[in-house]
Amino acid sequence: MNAQTVYLNGQYLPLEEARVPVLDRGFIFGDGVYEVVPIYAGVPFRWRHHLARLKRSLAKIAITNPHDDAGWDHIISELFGRHPWPNQFVYIQVTRGVAKRDHAFPVGVSPTVFAMASELVLPPDSVRSTGIAIITAPDERWLHCDIKSTSLLGNVLARQKAVEAGAAECVMLRDGFLTEGSASNLWVVRNGTLLGSPRDHLVLEGIRYRLLEELAELCEIPFELRRIAREELFSADELLLTSATKEVLPVTSINAQAVGTGKPGPVWAKLYGAYRQATGRGATAGS
Ligand code: PMP
Repeated sequence: MNAQTVYLNGQYLPLEEARVPVLDRGFIFGDGVYEVVPIYAGVPFRWRHHLARLKRSLAKIAITNPHDDAGWDHIISELFGRHPWPNQFVYIQVTRGVAKRDHAFPVGVSPTVFAMASELVLPPDSVRSTGIAIITAPDERWLHCDIKSTSLLGNVLARQKAVEAGAAECVMLRDGFLTEGSASNLWVVRNGTLLGSPRDHLVLEGIRYRLLEELAELCEIPFELRRIAREELFSADELLLTSATKEVLPVTSINAQAVGTGKPGPVWAKLYGAYRQATGRGATAGS
């Protein structure tokens, strides 16, 4: 593998040489936002949507967007071009910058901008043919989950619970209703309808929200966003999980109980085929 090159504040340099001062507010306070965009065969997938979400996250925490669209385009295509992998994902992080430690916003400080390309290793066929296991836990995070903030302690603790339970993801519930996974959105199939949690401050609206809505329409699957009660997860016909790097995965067990038939279901199979096509691949694995 080539040495990994990263972008830091206007420079491209080897990962090992990239350094941020310890007083960076990302390090001190988790005062920053991030984005993750997948790139298939050199083409960033839904990049305009990811960029729009990055701008929304920056605006919500009052960090001035450090680049115009052309500037961001340049950074991701430059990072892609410097690595050999056909499929990659780019992680972008913007923090409020470096300043004397004080909670209030510093004045006259430039944001720290970091971006890194990695190989996009998609889940193998074996994972899709058996499906994944998830667990549930109370959602103990703050009330601005719509911001893609680098302050991820609640998500980190949730994911660790999943790891310790031998599951792939921890899905969170607030007041008895589904919110989302520690790093993913969860979808519920009941009587042929694809259900998701409302777009509000309790979830990060994945870029796959709009995508799944479009793919569901293409596949003639009714789509609805509404509050989903805990019991509805356990009596679902199918559960699906989405994220930029996991695409759309079937969930076949929840708290060690089978979901539906215990096998990946027909709604997942249709949506996964449509997802592959949307990313420029054939509808079935191997095509
Ligand atoms: N929710 C959370 C908390 C996440 O971290 C992610 C992954 N970024 C998602 C949802 C899914 O978002 P996307 O589809 O844009 O990857």
